[in-house]
Amino acid sequence: MGSLTRKKIQTVYPLLLFVLLYFVSVLLKNDLWGNILSPLVAFFSALLILSSMKAVKTHKAYGVLLFCCSFVWGVADFFWLIYENIFFSNPVEVPYINVLYVFPNVFFTGFLSLYIYKNRIYWNLQQFFIDIFTFTAIGMVLVWAFIFSKTGLQFTFDFNYILIIVYVFFDFLIMVEIGLICFSKSFKNINFSLSLILVSFAVFVLADFYYAYLSLMESYKANTIIDFVYIISIVLFSFASVHESLHPSVPKALSKDQLSENLRKPKKTGLLVVLLFFLFYLLDFFSFITLMLAVFIFVLYWVLTTNIRANMLDRLLLKTEKEMNEHLEKMIQERTKELSFTNQHLEEISNRDALTGLYNRRYLINYLDVLTSSEETKPFALLYIDTNRFKPINDSYGHEIGDKVLFSLGMRLLEYCTAKCTAFRIGGDEFAVILRDFNDVTEVSAIAEKILEKLQLPISLPPYSFTLSASIGIALYPRDAKKKDVLLRYADIAMYEVKSSDHKNDYLFFDKVFTEKINKRHELEFLLQNADYDKEFKLYYQPQYSTENQTLVGMEALIRWIHPQRGFIPPSDFIPIAEENGLIIDIGEWVIDNAFAQIKKWNQSFDEKFRMSINISPIQIKNTGFLEWFVKKIEKENMNPEWIDLEITESVAMISTTSIEKIFDLLNDIGVNISIDDFGTGYSSLSYIRKYKIDRLKIAKELIDNIDHDENALLIVQAIIMMAKGMQLKTISEGVEDTSQLAILNGLGCDEIQGYIFGKPVPSDEFEKQHFAVKNL
Ligand code: C2E
Ligand code: CA
Repeated sequence: MGSLTRKKIQTVYPLLLFVLLYFVSVLLKNDLWGNILSPLVAFFSALLILSSMKAVKTHKAYGVLLFCCSFVWGVADFFWLIYENIFFSNPVEVPYINVLYVFPNVFFTGFLSLYIYKNRIYWNLQQFFIDIFTFTAIGMVLVWAFIFSKTGLQFTFDFNYILIIVYVFFDFLIMVEIGLICFSKSFKNINFSLSLILVSFAVFVLADFYYAYLSLMESYKANTIIDFVYIISIVLFSFASVHESLHPSVPKALSKDQLSENLRKPKKTGLLVVLLFFLFYLLDFFSFITLMLAVFIFVLYWVLTTNIRANMLDRLLLKTEKEMNEHLEKMIQERTKELSFTNQHLEEISNRDALTGLYNRRYLINYLDVLTSSEETKPFALLYIDTNRFKPINDSYGHEIGDKVLFSLGMRLLEYCTAKCTAFRIGGDEFAVILRDFNDVTEVSAIAEKILEKLQLPISLPPYSFTLSASIGIALYPRDAKKKDVLLRYADIAMYEVKSSDHKNDYLFFDKVFTEKINKRHELEFLLQNADYDKEFKLYYQPQYSTENQTLVGMEALIRWIHPQRGFIPPSDFIPIAEENGLIIDIGEWVIDNAFAQIKKWNQSFDEKFRMSINISPIQIKNTGFLEWFVKKIEKENMNPEWIDLEITESVAMISTTSIEKIFDLLNDIGVNISIDDFGTGYSSLSYIRKYKIDRLKIAKELIDNIDHDENALLIVQAIIMMAKGMQLKTISEGVEDTSQLAILNGLGCDEIQGYIFGKPVPSDEFEKQHFAVKNL
């Protein structure tokens, strides 16, 4: 207990002493001491309330009202003392003293009204009025039963009589208000201080009623037990204010659960009152009519209240449900927001290429979908970009370097693509760009050129540096096509056209001619897949002569396809298709089978050592099973390997991988000859010649074609022959058509010649006639 609390409690002791003394004086019927002590108690109580008020912060107005009650009571008592014990006159006859005694009743009413007003949210309006009605009616019944019916008084316009009515009126109000606070509130939060106050008011009202009764009966006597009851009431509410200052009440919020529980609880107090009334009736305080009246009031009250409470509960449940729904809705909204955010994020990820961060193929398709599905879309261009020479980088330097190369290509596209265009990575080394809002085709061309330029810049990945190029196919919407699939196919076709041309680092707009080509390609592919090799394929042989003494040294086997319906189909048309769809493996085996048989036949029957050159496609070489198959073939056929020469293109030899190196080693171990076909056309690096065990360089026809009128070509051929001699490699020139070329090559020291000058590719029987006949074999 704090010292402040102790001090406060100590202030109560003198008051208790005064009350005790007053009680003694009442018992001893000592009027003087009663008259002295009564105002003393009231003033002391007022003082106590005043001092408590300082500590109470929230309920100041209540404190003021309580203070006024005790103080006015004290003043009235003081005047009573003066009049009775100094002026020796009857104070009951002094009107203003009686009026002063009305004031506490007024203040009590004010106190309770203020409380009801401040806590009005706890009342249901309908219930409030029904309760007022019920309490008033019951009050009136009681007043009637106890006062008027007993006294049989008649109303007169006497001042004291009116004053008593005023007392009773306020007592009535107080009673009704106490009833409202105790029984009508939908939420019970009456703390100890308030209970004490309500009890004190109730005590006061009871005393007042009794006083009214005594007054009307003209048998009131001061300083009797009734005055003691008044004093007790005053003391009680002063104690309440002390208690409040020591334990300030904390306003409690009304929880919905508590409220709905309150509403569900049946009101039993009414029943108790009815029982009490019945008891009064039995004790003969009430007449039967009075009891019936009370019962009627209670039944009415009960019916109405039950109804209102059910309504309130309904409304409360509805409100709770609404709130819960709102809460749920809010939660759903939040969840939906979260989900849509995650979805957005996922969508974003699923639309992006992980390596370059560019949009991916999926997004391109969706994007085209959106663009092509609207009638209002302005013309746009789809650029299909395929990187050239990327694959060898990936193969030779590994995927890590390959990824870095792709990344920098992607970044270049991204840098280039501004507001008007969007870049995509749609496959391994394939990219796309969509260009919108262009003015004319020349603008698209300019952009395609710029992209080519950008992609061609060297990519530095120390210690390496790579220079790539690209082929771009362009399809225009809506000029070329209006459907996304067609547009994509057309751009791809145009790109393919660039790729298969001599200028791979270029761009092309789609042209209907390309589709015709493609269709033809598809048709050839179909025919090839269904070809009967032995019936439709035939090997032609082109002679290879020694330059020096112009004797036959060998021949190149060249495939011919004579289709039953389509007739002659040149190898340049179908070999690339066979390479693409893998059929070249089977075709190649067929060629080797037949070429082996032919060379065996010729060399054995003519007792010669001619060499049969067989073209081996890069696809064949790279095929894992090829070498094994070939070795077995040599063994099975008991083929003299020296009779065989494999023509491998320069591009295969360029691939610097251990597997290719092993292939060359193995072929050399077997003892077959190896020639590098079309030498001098594509690649400038010659380091591989030293690395691989090869026998012969076959100088490309393109160089030989120009040898007699282009000094550069002559110089290149000369350099090749000299270098080959230095490395003990043989040389053979391909496509030699006239004597001037032959003379030059002879002069340069080229070992062998293949070309129309000695003979075109012809079937074996024709070959025999042309070349073996000359030799008179
Ligand atoms: P290639 O290996 O460069 O073959 C040489 C081509 O040049 C042959 O065309 C031949 O007829 C032609 N040629 C030779 N001398 C002359 C000449 O003096 N003047 C002219 N204008 N042309 C000459 P062909 O037979 O049409 O073969 C084209 C290509 O088809 C070959 O080029 C070769 O790469 C491929 N090829 C042909 N047969 C086979 C084969 O059995 N297997 C594979 N994988 N490819 C083959
Ligand atoms: Ca060849």
